[in-house]
Amino acid sequence: MDCGICRTVAGESGNRDEAIFDNGLWHVRHGGAPYGVPGWLMLITKRHVPGPWAFSDEEAQSLGPTIRHVGQILLEATGALRIYTAWMGESWPHFHAHLVPRYASMPKDAKAWGAFDLQRAAGAGEIQVDLAEVDRLTKLLRERLAASPPP
Ligand SMILES: [Zn+2]
Repeated sequence: MDCGICRTVAGESGNRDEAIFDNGLWHVRHGGAPYGVPGWLMLITKRHVPGPWAFSDEEAQSLGPTIRHVGQILLEATGALRIYTAWMGESWPHFHAHLVPRYASMPKDAKAWGAFDLQRAAGAGEIQVDLAEVDRLTKLLRERLAASPPP
């Protein structure tokens, strides 16, 4: 099966500059362009898993501590008010959680479910995100997760 996420996880595709952290179970990366907000992270299973109902025991036990740790680091790095966290599983055969910083000021004043429409809005040219801020946060989060990996 040709899977773009598998290629990304294996380091075979482009945009490795968006990769942030990797261990035996999880791959963390900045969401790909077009960018809805800076710091929009993806927490992705290394293997094909359609959703939490199909997790191995190891994945099930790891998700809580991992998503808490990544969320805390993202919150501190961005100064966001909170981190929107959602997963649906529509686009790829890998479980992938979206961790979206909810800043005090959001493009289009998007809140709650509206924030998840910002990537589409960026693709349609309705908003523009500061690419330097995407790069800065990607590097900062990579450093912080290297220094303090998820348990
Ligand atoms: Zn895959």
